[in-house]
Amino acid sequence: MSRFFSSKYKSLKAYVPGEQPRDKKYIKLNTNESPYPPSEAVTKAVEKEIGLLQLYSDPETKALNAAIASLWGLKAEQIVSTNGSDEALNFVFMTFCDKDHPIAFPDLTYGFYSVFAQLNDVKYKEIPLKDDFSIDYKDYCGIGMNVVIANPNAPTGLVMPLWQIEEIVKTNPDNVVVIDEAYIDYGGQSATSLIDKYDNLIVIQTFSKSRSMAGARLGFAASNTELIKDLNTIRFSTNPYNVNRMTAACGIAAIEDNGYYMDNVKKIINTRGIVKAELEKLGFEVLESHTNFVFARTDRIEGEKLYLGLKDRGVLVRYFSKERIKDYNRITIGTPEEMERFIEAVKDVLGE
Ligand SMILES: *Cc1c(COP(=O)(O)O)cnc(C)c1O
Repeated sequence: MSRFFSSKYKSLKAYVPGEQPRDKKYIKLNTNESPYPPSEAVTKAVEKEIGLLQLYSDPETKALNAAIASLWGLKAEQIVSTNGSDEALNFVFMTFCDKDHPIAFPDLTYGFYSVFAQLNDVKYKEIPLKDDFSIDYKDYCGIGMNVVIANPNAPTGLVMPLWQIEEIVKTNPDNVVVIDEAYIDYGGQSATSLIDKYDNLIVIQTFSKSRSMAGARLGFAASNTELIKDLNTIRFSTNPYNVNRMTAACGIAAIEDNGYYMDNVKKIINTRGIVKAELEKLGFEVLESHTNFVFARTDRIEGEKLYLGLKDRGVLVRYFSKERIKDYNRITIGTPEEMERFIEAVKDVLGE
């Protein structure tokens, strides 16, 4: 840390993204990307925008917001598009949380929530998951704080039914409830259907997972128009051109090609079932996933040893050193071929 670093960030511990090594070609099952490329229409959309890069993008991303809204039965005014959903999450923390407006989230969830809380000087309460790693919705009912919940949750992959989400929203009318739906296309019911009913609900989604656009950085927040206006006040005070014109065009094209992406989702769900069964045959416990990854452990080998053994064999998975989950690995679902090689590598590490 240099002597110039702002004292307000002295104790900030930056988020550590999953590794993106360049040393050799891995089967990459560690950051929940889609194994399938973007559709042809998306590639063409980029080409069309390249010759227009001298011009700023539309700061209101009108066409993109309208396309996103149509997908979820909402109005364009209920959407703010962002540079990845991480930016939407940070905007929510900046806009609705402060010293007097703390936020609650599970102890095991997306690691960025606590980082954004620290970054924005927001107090936060981490609520332990139940022993089976599920979220007890009653812990959040009438909690009197802002709430952020990933549904389905990561890294567990477990999902909450929509009626429990609704109870949390309904019983906290004076606080915002944020539902991070990064994995909603792989299982579970979206809370976007509740947006017109409650004025304190924000739903956040991303194009990084089911829509094969992690490298393009596109996400959004959906909410009622008043909260969207507040989010835009912060966005326009931070970076009005947060979504570049290539990414905006890709997003529109991806929505027009929705069928292609939903077919890929089906393939991944199918592969997920096969991987779960194969791992169980090898003696793993695998949580019931509603995402594009599985979370698994076995008595046969420590989590870290398995992670390192797989890495030696050219397969990257995500290992977390946190005490409660250090026996586990989070394994992204790739193509059927990639997952066959993954299972072979697991057998090899186990000495089978
Ligand atoms: C991947 C992920 C995100 C962030 O995705 P972006 O690439 O920033 O859109 C947000 N929340 C959860 C739970 C995720 O897994």
